[in-house]
Amino acid sequence: MKNRRNFLKTAALGAAVFSLDSVAATAARAQAKAPVKGKPIVISTWDFGRAANEAAWEILKKGGRALDAVEAGVRVPEADPNNHTVGYSGFPDRDGRVTLDACIMDEHGNAGSVAALEHVTHAISVARLVMEKTPHVMLVGDGALQFALANGFKKENLLTPEAEKAWKEWLKTSEYKPVINIENKSYTPTNGATAFNPLMLPGNVYNHDTIGMVAMDTEGNLSGACTTSGMAFKLHGRVGDSPIIGAGLYVDNEIGAATSTGVGEEVIKIVGSHLVVELMRQGYPPEKACKEAVDRIVKRSPSKAKEIQVGFLALNKKGQYGAYCLQKGFSYAVLSKDVNNALIDGKHHF
Ligand code: ASP
Repeated sequence: MKNRRNFLKTAALGAAVFSLDSVAATAARAQAKAPVKGKPIVISTWDFGRAANEAAWEILKKGGRALDAVEAGVRVPEADPNNHTVGYSGFPDRDGRVTLDACIMDEHGNAGSVAALEHVTHAISVARLVMEKTPHVMLVGDGALQFALANGFKKENLLTPEAEKAWKEWLKTSEYKPVINIENKSYTPTNGATAFNPLMLPGNVYNHDTIGMVAMDTEGNLSGACTTSGMAFKLHGRVGDSPIIGAGLYVDNEIGAATSTGVGEEVIKIVGSHLVVELMRQGYPPEKACKEAVDRIVKRSPSKAKEIQVGFLALNKKGQYGAYCLQKGFSYAVLSKDVNNALIDGKHHF
C-alpha cells in the first residue's frame, strides 16, 4: 500500500514536471512561430517624405524601433540643402535668421521638443535628447542651442546662399502677409497679398512645409517626428505648430499617431494632431479623423481657410493610414511591405 502510494506520488510529480516542460516548450514554439505584432509602416508628409521614408525603412525592416526610424527618417530632409522648408538651408525669418522647430514622441508617450533653435541642422535629434536626457519636454531659443552644444552638437551656419538670396528678394517688399502655401499653382490669392507671392520665390519654391512622419515597428509600437524651419520670413521668435506636442504631432501607442503641415497657427488653435488621435480613439478611421480636424479649421474661420493650406496625416494601431487637407496639392508618402513608397494625393476640402 505504502509502495503504491509512493509510486502514485512520484508519478504525479513526474506528470507535473512533464506538463510544465511541455507548456514551456509549447510557448517557446508558439513564440518562434508567432506572427509579428505590428506590420511595419512609415508615412510622412510631402514628396520629400519619400527619401525620408527610405531612411526610416532601413531601420523598420530590420525590426528596429519606430522611434529610431522616425528620427533617422526626418534627418534626411533636415540635411538636404535643396529643401528650404526644413533644417539646413531653411528659409530664414525676416531678420535673416534660420530658426528651427521640431518635436518627437515615443511609444511610451514620452515627448521632446525644441523651438526657435538656431545653428543646428538636426533639430529632431536635439528634441530627442531633450526627451531622453532632461526632465523637460521643451527647450527654446538660446536655451535649446546651449543644451545642444553642451551635448556635442556643433554650431553651424544654416543660411545657404540660395536661401539668403530668396530672403533678400523678399526684403525688397517685406510684405508680411504670407499667402500660405497654396500648392495649387493656379491659385490666385484673394487676401490682397499680391506684393509677395511665395510661389514666385526664386526657383518657384514653396515658402513653408514640414516633414511630419509617423511609423509603426514590428512590435506594433508607434512613434512620430516633426521638423521644420517654419514659415519663411516669419517674425523673429515665431513658433508654429510643429514643435507643439498635440498640435504638430501626437502619438498614443494604444490608438494611433498623427502629424500636420501647413499654417501652424490654425493647427495650434484646434490642437490638431491630438484631435485627430482622439477622434481615432472614438472609432474614426484615419482619413475621416483628419477630415474632421480640417473641417474644424474651416468652421472656425471659413474665409481664412480658403486662403491657406493645412494637411493632417494619421496612422492607427491597426496600420491603417489616411490624410486630409484644405487645398489641393498636399501629398504624402507611404512605405511598408505592401506599399512601395507611394506618393498619395491627400483628399481636400476645397
Ligand atoms: N506647420 C509649419 C509651421 O507653421 C509649416 C508647414 O508645415 O508648412 O511652421
